[in-house]
Amino acid sequence: MRSAQEPTDVVIVGGGPAGLSAALSLGRARRRVIVVDAGTPRNRTAPHMHGVLGHDGLSPLRLLERGREEVAGYGVRIIRGEVTAVHAGVADGGDGAAMNVGAAIEVETADEVVRTRRLLVATGLEDVLPDIPGLREQWGRGVVVCPYCDGWEHRNDVIGVVATSPRSIEQAQLLRQWSDRVIYFANGFGEPSAEELAALGRRGIHLELGSVTGLRIDADRVTGVQVGGRVVSVGVVFTGPALRPRDALLRSLGATTTEGPLGTWVDVDDDGRTSVPGVWAVGNVVNSRSNVSVSMGLGSLVAGALNADLVADDIARTLATAAA
Ligand SMILES: Cc1cc2nc3c(=O)[nH]c(=O)nc-3n(C[C@H](O)[C@H](O)[C@H](O)COP(=O)(O)OP(=O)(O)OC[C@H]3O[C@@H](n4cnc5c(N)ncnc54)[C@H](O)[C@@H]3O)c2cc1C
Repeated sequence: MRSAQEPTDVVIVGGGPAGLSAALSLGRARRRVIVVDAGTPRNRTAPHMHGVLGHDGLSPLRLLERGREEVAGYGVRIIRGEVTAVHAGVADGGDGAAMNVGAAIEVETADEVVRTRRLLVATGLEDVLPDIPGLREQWGRGVVVCPYCDGWEHRNDVIGVVATSPRSIEQAQLLRQWSDRVIYFANGFGEPSAEELAALGRRGIHLELGSVTGLRIDADRVTGVQVGGRVVSVGVVFTGPALRPRDALLRSLGATTTEGPLGTWVDVDDDGRTSVPGVWAVGNVVNSRSNVSVSMGLGSLVAGALNADLVADDIARTLATAAA
């Protein structure tokens, strides 16, 4: 296992839109940057990406490929692989002057240990899909989550909304914006209230109360939803997976968290700082609403704040060296 002696400026864990956008700004700011990426972005099964200005319809994997080419042009090193552990507060391997976070951070991959002055975690989140036969295989194609990403492509289609909680009724009402042929599959999550039933009825949203037992797939396309021994024809399924942030590294460092309606998330301030000195986070790992554009925007914003923090550290180091 190799260990770099001189700490790099920033290690970014995760080379999705958030991490690569931050890498682009930091590379252009002449920082020494390493991106470690396991290559499993959240939208990897989607053939096309939408709602991203200038890139509408592009493959999400192609966007990241372009991003990697761009950051490499500014000297950013990319390691393909997984970060398995991080350790904060280790001794400074640099010039010995105190850094304003007190110590360096060590980042472990399978092949090497990298020492860094700052760590930016951009590891995204995992969608925990409902356990319905056929659903996982179609994820990102015939089964999708985000109306703003895929609604237009299914305008006027028969849209099935498969509930994963009683709140899925809101997803059905939202999708009525894209089609007047929406079917809400309550999927055993309870009968809607009288008020909700009235709102569904008035908006022409059809209700199927039974539990969903599978999807019908013909020629690799979703054509129906199995419910109560019947198959109800649909052109696409929308569903709402549970969101599980990939925040194990941040939690292992003791980052503080806050519980909210969508689970427990690591705290960051407006600049992306976590509660752990020198450790920052951006994108879906700390923000459930961070789509591609938001992730790229926040990646750029956090990079600026991170660089300012490093500049302050550079000044402190210079003054400490001069005084010695
Ligand atoms: C099916 C689907 C379709 C979508 N379509 C759209 C769309 O059309 N438009 C849109 O704006 N948004 C879309 N999204 C949302 C979009 O995927 C996310 O907003 C975006 O990917 C978040 O970017 P991120 O950089 O935070 O995380 P990600 O893109 O998930 O990237 C995180 C990266 O970190 C890596 N990683 C994780 N852990 C480690 C580790 N320990 N070590 C090293 N690397 C690690 C992962 O391998 C991954 O490459 C879609 C989502 C889904 C599920």
